[in-house]
Amino acid sequence: MKKYASLLLFCAGLALAQPTATGTGGAAATVDALATRAAMEILAQGGNAVDAAVAAAAVLGVTEPYSCGIGGGGFMLVYLAKESRVVSIDHREVAPASFTPTVFNGPDGRPIPFAERVNSGLSVGVPGTVRGWEEALRRYGTLSLGRVLQPAIRVAQQGFTVDATFAAQTQANLERFRYFTSTRDLFLPGGSVPAVGSTFKNPDLARTYLLLASGGSRAFYTGPVAQAIVNTVNNPPVAPGVSANIRKGNVTLADLESYEARIRPPVQSSYRGYTIYGMGLPSSGGPTIALALNLLEGYNLSTLPRERALHLYLEASRLAFADRNAYMGDPEFVDAPLSGLLSKKYAEERRKAIGERAPEGAVRPGDPYPFQQDPSTPLRPQAQGTRREGESTTHLTVADKEDNIVSYTFTIESTGGNAMVVPGYGFLLNNELTDFDATVPHPNSPEAFKRPRSSMSPTLVFRDGKPVLALGSPGGATIITTVLQTLVNVLDFGLPIDQALAAPRLSQRNTQTTNVDGGFERTPEAQALAALGHRWAPLAEIGALTAIAFNPDGTLTAAAEPTRRGGGSAAVERPR
Ligand code: GLU
Repeated sequence: MKKYASLLLFCAGLALAQPTATGTGGAAATVDALATRAAMEILAQGGNAVDAAVAAAAVLGVTEPYSCGIGGGGFMLVYLAKESRVVSIDHREVAPASFTPTVFNGPDGRPIPFAERVNSGLSVGVPGTVRGWEEALRRYGTLSLGRVLQPAIRVAQQGFTVDATFAAQTQANLERFRYFTSTRDLFLPGGSVPAVGSTFKNPDLARTYLLLASGGSRAFYTGPVAQAIVNTVNNPPVAPGVSANIRKGNVTLADLESYEARIRPPVQSSYRGYTIYGMGLPSSGGPTIALALNLLEGYNLSTLPRERALHLYLEASRLAFADRNAYMGDPEFVDAPLSGLLSKKYAEERRKAIGERAPEGAVRPGDPYPFQQDPSTPLRPQAQGTRREGESTTHLTVADKEDNIVSYTFTIESTGGNAMVVPGYGFLLNNELTDFDATVPHPNSPEAFKRPRSSMSPTLVFRDGKPVLALGSPGGATIITTVLQTLVNVLDFGLPIDQALAAPRLSQRNTQTTNVDGGFERTPEAQALAALGHRWAPLAEIGALTAIAFNPDGTLTAAAEPTRRGGGSAAVERPR
């Protein structure tokens, strides 16, 4: 989404509207020109990649309020160049103490309709974003939270120009935004969708950011903001006359106060001599991508006819999703058999399940237990179908001149989260807890203090210890295939990053049909694949990837979508 601060429309802003930029120094790619500008501003002030990433994220909380913000959570992957080390910061939302495996069942014991789960207090996880930002800055940044929030405070106060994507997303949420007085007041000024070209300000959010700037995360997790979150979840601000069944949640101040971000080791794997770092559980993103790449490593994709390579890509993804759906959940609750799943020997065995044709319907998960270093875990879950997951979320990628890199995906789950703005504070709450599986028992079943399984996949690729690529995307479970396909496009097909991310996407997630975008279904490859049993389910667009490629000549290329979601914004400090 391209946006411009209404008061700041000058040449630099226009340059930031471009989706690809190559040069030296630091670089940033986000879905939004103002967020990219904030990252570049902080880099220019001497901040590092972590400082710049948080600054950009805070701006996205203003300009992309339906996709992300302080009412949600996320996963940040950080490469610390001096220490040659990758760390991840899990600030995923967590279920409150009151949560139970049957929380989403109605009085008759049957699951309540999905739409009613989304627009409820029940689906709100304790937000992790603010603690994540603070941990990131405290451990790995060089500037204060107060300092890096400045660009976002400015954008929230001065406003941004409403574009077609923002208007369309508001329109798509019209009915449920009308359910809540606070949401109506903020996002439907005068009762209707803000006009394209009008200026949208969020003074409440500016004030909330100012509270965080002076009080740090305590100003969010305790005191008036925490109380307002609890009130909103437990007594949603339903507008008079609304007949929809809006369920109350049960979150306490203690749930808020005890929220912790987790510093976790990333998932490390290898692919044709590259080292890949991904986000580990509770995100299934890193392990599922590693699993699929291990399967693909058995074929020489670069020399095969393209339709054969794509068939293998689709089938590897199908098998990886079968395992993801069966085994993965919050590692603090479940012993997922990761060492088995990610072993090259398991991939050798599992590869035998890839046939010449697409199978009819879902495939069963494999058995990783014989390949576990610790074969003690007895749980052998059944195959699970793929659930509907949101298509909201945003990803940003930043590098600084010292080669520190941040690959950061964060979200409020559905586009528009649970549709409740916290009254007086200017941000939407998440519905992240709808990411739990309703099936019980299951590694991803709802439990108190548990983090729902995610698909978010911030990823970093290295060769011989040097960065090659940083990338990630929104898109619910399609995030995994978007990142996987882009890796294949770059590492196997040799596409430059801008072409790799603009290419039509194919997303196979162990279902009968494969989602595609960009008109893929009309190509000769699609026809050849259809003859092998592949069935297409076209979508208007899949994902909104941002990336930075570290080129062999020492330059960097920052890249965002040329068209998806209205196009993104890339910049480098010193353009070539
Ligand atoms: N809730 C999803 C996840 O964690 C992200 C939602 C989205 O990308 O739309 O995987």
